Amino acid sequence: MTRQRVCVLALAAMLLLVFATFSKSKGLRDKEPQGESRIPSQFGEEERVAMKEALKGAIQIPTVSFNLMESNTTALAEFGEYIRKVFPAVFSTRFIQHEVVGEYSHLFTIQGSDPSLQPYMLMAHFDVVPAPEEGWEVPPFSGLERDGFIHGRGTLDNKNSVMAILQALELLLMRKYIPRRSFFIALGHDEEVSGLKGAKKISALLQSRGVQLAFIVDEGGYIFSGLIPGIQKPVAMIAVSEKGAINLRLQVSMTPGHSSAPPKETSIGILAAAVSRLEQTPMPNMFGSGTLEMTMKQLAHEFPFPFSIFFRNLWLFRPLVRRLIERNYITNALVRTTTALTMFNAGIKENVIPPVAQATVNIRIHPAQTVQEVLELVKNIVADDRVQLHVLKAFDPLPISPSDDQALGYQLLHQTIQSVFPEISIITPGICIGNTDTVHYTNLTTGIYRFNPIYLDPQGFKSFHGLNEKISVKAYEFQVKFIFELIQNADIDRVSVPHLHEL
Ligand SMILES: [Zn+2]
Repeated sequence: MTRQRVCVLALAAMLLLVFATFSKSKGLRDKEPQGESRIPSQFGEEERVAMKEALKGAIQIPTVSFNLMESNTTALAEFGEYIRKVFPAVFSTRFIQHEVVGEYSHLFTIQGSDPSLQPYMLMAHFDVVPAPEEGWEVPPFSGLERDGFIHGRGTLDNKNSVMAILQALELLLMRKYIPRRSFFIALGHDEEVSGLKGAKKISALLQSRGVQLAFIVDEGGYIFSGLIPGIQKPVAMIAVSEKGAINLRLQVSMTPGHSSAPPKETSIGILAAAVSRLEQTPMPNMFGSGTLEMTMKQLAHEFPFPFSIFFRNLWLFRPLVRRLIERNYITNALVRTTTALTMFNAGIKENVIPPVAQATVNIRIHPAQTVQEVLELVKNIVADDRVQLHVLKAFDPLPISPSDDQALGYQLLHQTIQSVFPEISIITPGICIGNTDTVHYTNLTTGIYRFNPIYLDPQGFKSFHGLNEKISVKAYEFQVKFIFELIQNADIDRVSVPHLHEL
């Protein structure tokens, strides 16, 4: 497959994930909070230097989560000290309460002046996945600046958000800002390994206090750019759902024996055949439902020939488009439940028929399916009673958050994208194929939005959990600016167009 086609498909599928209509935001347009109290998002030279230096310092603290049980707790504690030092206003303002939750996570409660407005929450996490130095252009925890980029693990996932949120608040406080609408900032310390010690506890704490949130903003969606040669337009995707997941163990147990007189089938052979069937039998392609098609038609003209023709005439080309999309591994993951064989263990000695063979499969569930449906499909594909299935962990895809004219969180993001990135004309809801800490917060709100105001190209996409993760100084400044604007925009009373609109 040519690079061009791969790229076209990448964007195409992202657009295909759209649940609601592609529309210019009407909700907040008439009522921008541009009162006299509006603070312009302009930062002085000294502030801009301090801003990037603060991020570099954060990258240098190796807050690694290794697994559920093991993380660099010294670094996690050091990070807590670090943010105290770098953001003194945040930690000393009378209307901000700071709490450490689950030993290392941070919860800030910012009391607004108008208690009638429902609070919202900004989220991020400061733990990172391990980064062995091999293959990196610069050491992963150096925070080195080179060619306009700050390099290191966590520059995109997700210390950029942690630092940008606190930085934006610090800058607002220095300008004597007092919010109208209360909000929370939740910074998790174990997102990369489940969020059970951080986000889950913060969520329980807020619930015990009777908090209900208007909306939540976390990482997970981006401004996708450069995915299609020939199409210059960037696409801002606000993820309104994320995939579910199952960790499934397959096990075959047999009577052990000597390898000199082997049985016709061994546990290894039976299990290998089963996992091979799973790998060879993809889950159903979920491409092609109602509103999706409408979006496709509206955006069809953005694609170069001949794709514009395909997308404009799905009645004819649906089977073709469906096949094209599943040929690329990234776009394939966007339109179906995926099955990845991640562990395989068997055998104790070279001349012993092993009693047990085990394999682990990591399944990511498309939002149109459930854990139960997928388990049924797996059973039917394995189709061998000797293979026992044990669910190690499972959760359904996250509910789809509203993205209509009345959805406050969505519309605030939409409005802020338009004002901070005026060059972006395509803003669309989508899904997140990874998982975030938001999974722990569904009890507090129905409006969960995943959006990082960062341009992401295919190379950047690969650097998540990979090599040479980096962020441009300029991109980081825009992220701070975005949050600075978003916090002020959130002081609006409500979405202003009072008409019925079904998603
Ligand atoms: Zn992350």
